[in-house]
Amino acid sequence: MEKAIVMSGIRPTGFLHLGNYFGALRNYVKMQDTYTCYFMVADLHSLTTHPDTKELKHHVARVLAENIACGLDPDKAALYCQSHIRETAELYLYLNMLAYKGELEKTTTFKDKVRLQPDNVNAGLLTYPVLQAADIMLHRATLVPVGKDQEQHLEMARNFANRFNHRYGQVFPEPHAFNFGEELVKVPSLDGAGKMSKSENQYATIYLADDDDLIRKKIMKAKTDQGPTEPNSPMPDYIENLFLLMKLVSAPEVLQTFEAHYNSCTIRYGDMKKQLAEDMVRFVAPIREKAEAIRTDEKYLREVMEKGAEKAGKSAKETIEIVREAIGLKYY
Ligand code: ADP
Repeated sequence: MEKAIVMSGIRPTGFLHLGNYFGALRNYVKMQDTYTCYFMVADLHSLTTHPDTKELKHHVARVLAENIACGLDPDKAALYCQSHIRETAELYLYLNMLAYKGELEKTTTFKDKVRLQPDNVNAGLLTYPVLQAADIMLHRATLVPVGKDQEQHLEMARNFANRFNHRYGQVFPEPHAFNFGEELVKVPSLDGAGKMSKSENQYATIYLADDDDLIRKKIMKAKTDQGPTEPNSPMPDYIENLFLLMKLVSAPEVLQTFEAHYNSCTIRYGDMKKQLAEDMVRFVAPIREKAEAIRTDEKYLREVMEKGAEKAGKSAKETIEIVREAIGLKYY
């Protein structure tokens, strides 16, 4: 039986964090043995927010190194840079003819960006979900391991694929967000306001590059209160977030103990945060140390990018030939 095709990517816009790990990377690693996987550094996507492109090389190296440090094997999956696959731009152009201004303007991530950077509402930002659909459809992928924030973009990618098929004939399968049959993950920020993120909320986000003391400081500063006064009370958001983080990095018995303390109104949040901080340090430190060694090995990273581009390029070329033929752009 043919293996299902998997595609996903992470923007090189800063340090990777726990949200990227639990929303995306963890599944990349779990999927690489079973499926045909394409994972990319989304450098073209990062241009929509006008970063200092002199820094891009370092950011790309960091994302590659952190992917590998988390367990991704470049010999199993294609690990590549988006800008190395020129066919992406071509498919993006065709899909733009099938994407409507109204639906793009309604996208939550677009509305957020308009709020955050009102002076840079460029067309690339508006068509961000179209570029993302092109990345996925270029490999005719069906499974897309992403966090909860990407659900709407995946729905749009399905619409674009169906519209293409309807107009030009069946070429693309429907892509779906994937988390092994479970709800998509959203790792909350430590201040209880929104999600952990590369560029916003830096003190409320745990980065895979944070040193041990910084991790402890960030967790100890997380918002708590006096504790519940009634047994089995519902949890406020910011407390639920701490339990969620504990569920991700601590042993199940540890989580159960603190849940029991909460439910019997005997919880001491100071103790809980200390435990969480130590478990977090144990989780992050090995990834940080491994990534640091890979990040500075330019020769190795170049080989990874070349190997990845070769694998991804082959699949992209095959798809683009089929697409050109389906649209009717073959004249001889
Ligand atoms: P960021 O929002 O940090 O810039 P990207 O947009 O590059 O991250 O997203 C890379 C991947 O990480 C996507 O699959 C996205 O869904 C996932 N992701 C980002 N933040 C979180 C989070 N807080 N919780 C779960 N998944 C997340």
